[in-house]
Amino acid sequence: MEAPIRTTCAYCGVGCGIVATRTGARSVTIAADPDHPANLGRLCSKGTHLGETVRLDGRLLHPMIGKRRASWDKALDLVARRFRRAIAEHGPDSVAFYVSGQLLTEDYYVANKLMKGFIGSANIDTNSRLCMSSAVAGHMRAFGEDVVPASYDDLDAADLFVLVGSNTAWCHPVVYQRIRARCAAGAKMVVIDPRRTETAEEADLHLAIRPGSDVALFKALLAYCRENGLIDEAYLARSVHVPDDFWAEVGEGSDLWSAARTCDVPPTDLRRFLELFAAHPRTVTLFSQGVNQSVRGTDQVNAILNLHLATGRIGKPGAAPFSITGQPNAMGGREVGGLASTLASHMGFEPESVATVSQFWAAPNMACKPGLKAVDLFRAVGEGRIKALWIMATNPAVSMPDAGEVRAALAACPFVVVSDVIADTDTGRFAHVRLPAAAWGEKDGTVTNSERRISRQRALFALPGETKPDWWIVKEVGSRMGWRTHFAYDHPAEIFREHARLSTYRNHGRRLFALPGLSAIGNQAYDALEPFRWGGDAFADGRFSTADGKARLVPVAQRALPGPLAAWPMTLNTGRYRDHWHTMTRTGLSARLARHREEPLVEVHPEDAAALGLADGAIARVATPQGESLFRVSLSEGQRRGELFVPIHWTDRTATGGRTGLLPRPLVDPQSGQPGFKLTPASITPA
Ligand code: SF4
Repeated sequence: MEAPIRTTCAYCGVGCGIVATRTGARSVTIAADPDHPANLGRLCSKGTHLGETVRLDGRLLHPMIGKRRASWDKALDLVARRFRRAIAEHGPDSVAFYVSGQLLTEDYYVANKLMKGFIGSANIDTNSRLCMSSAVAGHMRAFGEDVVPASYDDLDAADLFVLVGSNTAWCHPVVYQRIRARCAAGAKMVVIDPRRTETAEEADLHLAIRPGSDVALFKALLAYCRENGLIDEAYLARSVHVPDDFWAEVGEGSDLWSAARTCDVPPTDLRRFLELFAAHPRTVTLFSQGVNQSVRGTDQVNAILNLHLATGRIGKPGAAPFSITGQPNAMGGREVGGLASTLASHMGFEPESVATVSQFWAAPNMACKPGLKAVDLFRAVGEGRIKALWIMATNPAVSMPDAGEVRAALAACPFVVVSDVIADTDTGRFAHVRLPAAAWGEKDGTVTNSERRISRQRALFALPGETKPDWWIVKEVGSRMGWRTHFAYDHPAEIFREHARLSTYRNHGRRLFALPGLSAIGNQAYDALEPFRWGGDAFADGRFSTADGKARLVPVAQRALPGPLAAWPMTLNTGRYRDHWHTMTRTGLSARLARHREEPLVEVHPEDAAALGLADGAIARVATPQGESLFRVSLSEGQRRGELFVPIHWTDRTATGGRTGLLPRPLVDPQSGQPGFKLTPASITPA
């Protein structure tokens, strides 16, 4: 028996610690790490069955140019040459990277540095844009920085949980286990979700609000708090800037009856929510994709943040607004500027920050303005403005909204590079060059979870075939493009040290994100790094990363909600299943995980199904203006009338139907650029 290795789960943003013990060349037993603060000995089904997913089935093990195996030298030279040529002929904004919350922080850092500091464009965006960029934009508007003022310890101290747009029981199961333990000790749980999910089933109160009416709900709650003396005036005076007309605007249309009508919930239920909120000051509001994946996502986030700031339910044990992230390293990507709209170390594109990062990197071609966000990036590919595109560790041909258009764009792009662990992905089929990347269990680095805790992912196995870590692949291309001395990394610890140095460089305490004391960490100490949470309890002193140190209340308005369209009488919502992850390249390898849901189902209210001639278990065609796909019908009383729900996981590789990505509109939130996956006009007919 080999010595156990402590590492971090490959899946969601909870970031659970795992103790992995190798039992053979490609086999491992998995146990929960009892000492990791994120999970304290707990795991969910996906984490528990990670050992079933480390086989080499379907892996990309060698560089490929077209359908031919190539040497690393040849493939990397070609990538560097084609990117250099596009930049020389069309300028730096003619190339782009599309990266992923699956990357480790060190991978993300090097890709961001190459694009923003050396190529000279900010056209690097990430699939985290689809997941939590509205939370980022909301945090920046309210706090002056993308910081999450919450920790998992708050879950153990809260008396009230408000879960908004989150099927926490399925999507963040270990966080949910912690919430349930607290509820068993007397805390209350309110779930705000149009669907009666497994989480909603166990709530003290479920508000099945009309999709998109979140702002009206939270403004009504804020107005109620003001009327009932629940505003923390002392905290506002000390720590929060309140715009002149803020309260007048909150009052408009925020009475109980108007809000109940807008949200389409019984006034008695709404009143119960208001009273529960009033009675339980230690409130944690957790929000996820139901809030973020909306064309009003940022306003919805700020409606929640306004409530916590105005009532002073922030920076105290058990009181916080808490954005729970979907991917294992969405947060680490945010820390190193993995979004097209940010620079490294939580800086933006204001001239002072551009100068700081440029000086630190000794960057010859520093990007001075934000780049293309995901939807715009693929639109630019389709319009021929992007001549060379590199996609790392993600499958946009499935996961982007209006994925059919994305496929057309990829097919027309002059040069597409895909680095991935899987040989045959829907996106990889459009690649001119495929580069074999190391997978979970093979790579070494750090990830950051939803509560800002940085943990090590450690290698369990030798690199198979010719696979390489993503940071190595990017630095090799950077070197071959002419910047060898700036990308001379041999170990992920070197990258982490540089990242830590940048986080404190000319910071002077202006940003909460800083990793003091780690810029000289040795390789051995990096290897042994224990999980730690950056920023500590920074919010306890009520100071934020704005010029005056105060947070901001942000006026937000509920927009009119469109009614059903004649040709598209239904509304389509999308989401996850409990035991699958993204496009199932890993969870699809586990027979036990597959048993939970074996095929993609469209959930329909029984009365809608009866009216439309749809039988339970029959095949139906779900169509939207963007595309159509087949799904098996599942009748569900948990659906609101007129609304459908489909899962995101199935692809061309795994099923003949269930192509959810073909269906959503590519409309985005104007602040964050995050697509609104949850509210697509649709129709459903028997197939
Ligand atoms: Fe992994 Fe998330 Fe499950 Fe924890 S809750 S074991 S991080 S999938």
